[in-house]
Amino acid sequence: MTDLIVVGGGLAGCEAAWQAAHRGLKVSLYEMRPGVSTEVHTTGDLAELVCSNSLGAVQRNTPAGLLKHELQLLNSFVIQCAEENALPAGKALAVDRERFSAMVTERLSNHPNITIIRQEIKKIPESPVIISTGPLTSASLSLEISHFLGEEFVFFYDAIAPIVTLESIDLSKAFRGSRYEQDNGSEGDYLNCPLTESQYFDFLNELLNAEQIEMRKIDSNVREGVNAGRKRYFEACLPIEVLAARDPKALTYGPLRPVGLRNPNDNSHPYAVLQLRQDNLANTLYNLVGFQTNLKFAEQERVFRMIPALAHAEFMRFGQMHRNTFIASPKFLLPTLQYKNRNDLFFAGQVAGIEGYTGNIASGLIAGINASRVLRGDEPLTFPADTMIGALHQYISSADIEHFQPMKAIFGLLPPLEHRPQSRKDKGFAYSKRALRSLRNFISENHLNGDLV
Ligand SMILES: Cc1cc2nc3c(=O)[nH]c(=O)nc-3n(C[C@H](O)[C@H](O)[C@H](O)COP(=O)(O)OP(=O)(O)OC[C@H]3O[C@@H](n4cnc5c(N)ncnc54)[C@H](O)[C@@H]3O)c2cc1C
Repeated sequence: MTDLIVVGGGLAGCEAAWQAAHRGLKVSLYEMRPGVSTEVHTTGDLAELVCSNSLGAVQRNTPAGLLKHELQLLNSFVIQCAEENALPAGKALAVDRERFSAMVTERLSNHPNITIIRQEIKKIPESPVIISTGPLTSASLSLEISHFLGEEFVFFYDAIAPIVTLESIDLSKAFRGSRYEQDNGSEGDYLNCPLTESQYFDFLNELLNAEQIEMRKIDSNVREGVNAGRKRYFEACLPIEVLAARDPKALTYGPLRPVGLRNPNDNSHPYAVLQLRQDNLANTLYNLVGFQTNLKFAEQERVFRMIPALAHAEFMRFGQMHRNTFIASPKFLLPTLQYKNRNDLFFAGQVAGIEGYTGNIASGLIAGINASRVLRGDEPLTFPADTMIGALHQYISSADIEHFQPMKAIFGLLPPLEHRPQSRKDKGFAYSKRALRSLRNFISENHLNGDLV
């Protein structure tokens, strides 16, 4: 007996399945891996994090931090698992990716209301369903969705950053420290790789002349015929070589920005700094933060080893370009995540145009709650516009369709504050105070946590 089908066991699908199951629905969760995989997943575990192991900032005066606080208030299952597998990462919530996915998989497998079925879904089910198949939705289902929705299906490309081993990093040329925190006496969670001005420009020169992987090879991963002509980079996740080509100093304002970091070895302020973030609990792997790239693998080794601390770096994963599939949500979805013409068909996660791990968890949470309400005969909920979770979902369902791109949590989505504080920090706290108050009222008015079983 199944009340609800969830297609895709990523961040959104796992959260959605848990929310619905905890409200008493019998859920069948379909995940195509490990039988059928994607271009970038490597395991059969649910909620696999395919790139960074960080779920972003935790401070409540930041957009991502506010969203996490909201998800905690809403009893998010996936955030709970992330917190139980947290690694030191300054003011961010980073996790041991293997333990995190293993915990999500085990808890959902043991849930009495959830059946996990390892199968690719190729057609949109006619019974109540949440489609949460992510940026790498399988080709067959992508094609089916594009036939179902018409032409408004868009592709573009993202890139992922490399990972190196700790033992291969030259620690005599790196230093520990979190941005702006070195004078607080804290050791700092990041390994920082400084560059002098001349090292930076030598690196830049090689980066701009390095060979890239031909886009045609990537195109072959994408089923022909589904808007194959409409590709573009996602601005928030540009390959460093694309960013660097825009302006010679662009990297020093982006992934190589040195602000808030001092090299304690010689008390200098470096011209540029690459930050490396711990990637696993065993503390053997480090992620090159913000270094998404589409260079050929041999070129990544050659060029990235020009950074002095990485001169002998051993690459455990190279950066790669990847497909990112999402639907034209403003045309098709309500802020409840229901398809406008069928109230028991939901889209959630990246395929619905939400960007970022935490946003996708939030999206799964809304779809799971609303699917259970619809099936019980209750009105689905539109979350308040002055909360981050509400603002994000109102945005994807009402944005300008012509320029629509996936959206992550940002304060700009929230309605203006009545009194504008002076500093950005104070503004963040003011947004956050208003949002959390509004969400608490909303939870209590709708007995949201009371309907968990
Ligand atoms: C290469 C890459 C790097 C990224 N890096 C980051 C990052 O560093 N930080 C960040 O915040 N976000 C990143 N993202 C975006 C990231 O994918 C999302 O934030 C998040 O994982 C999306 O969650 P989701 O649940 O929508 O999709 P996913 O987590 O991808 O889950 C979708 C699931 O559906 C399954 N599936 C697909 N098609 C079918 C089918 N037909 N039948 C059954 N199962 C199916 C897939 O196997 C997968 O398990 C990245 C995305 C990609 C592709």
